[in-house]
Amino acid sequence: MNLFEKIIAREIAADIVYEDEYSLAFRDINPAAPVHCLVIPKRCIERIAHARDDDRDLLGHLMMVAARVAKQEGLEAGGYRLVVNNGEDAGQSVFHLHIHVLGGRKLGWPPG
Ligand code: AMP
Repeated sequence: MNLFEKIIAREIAADIVYEDEYSLAFRDINPAAPVHCLVIPKRCIERIAHARDDDRDLLGHLMMVAARVAKQEGLEAGGYRLVVNNGEDAGQSVFHLHIHVLGGRKLGWPPG
């Protein structure tokens, strides 16, 4: 079981902000912004590059959940950023697909 599967199974505690049949969202343990949540699928896809055609609905769902979480966290008016890191150069450290939801401060671009 990977780390996020353990969070889904409640073997590791997390500050959960949203859950449904297909997805879970919780606060990042090492926040990079005043609001920093992660949205994950309950069925593990290691990284976006591993997604298949039949994951299309699930991926769309995760984006909708990310927008919902951002709204719930009060980020809609000021704006926010969604990030998916894929692989080593992007700094992916947990190999279970996740969308970072970041906001609550002015975010720089491009990322360093
Ligand atoms: P990434 O670098 O894109 O793979 O992002 C993985 C994220 O998971 C990082 O921002 C970590 O801070 C976060 N993370 C690692 N362990 C936990 C945990 N136990 N609970 C919540 N977030 C975590």
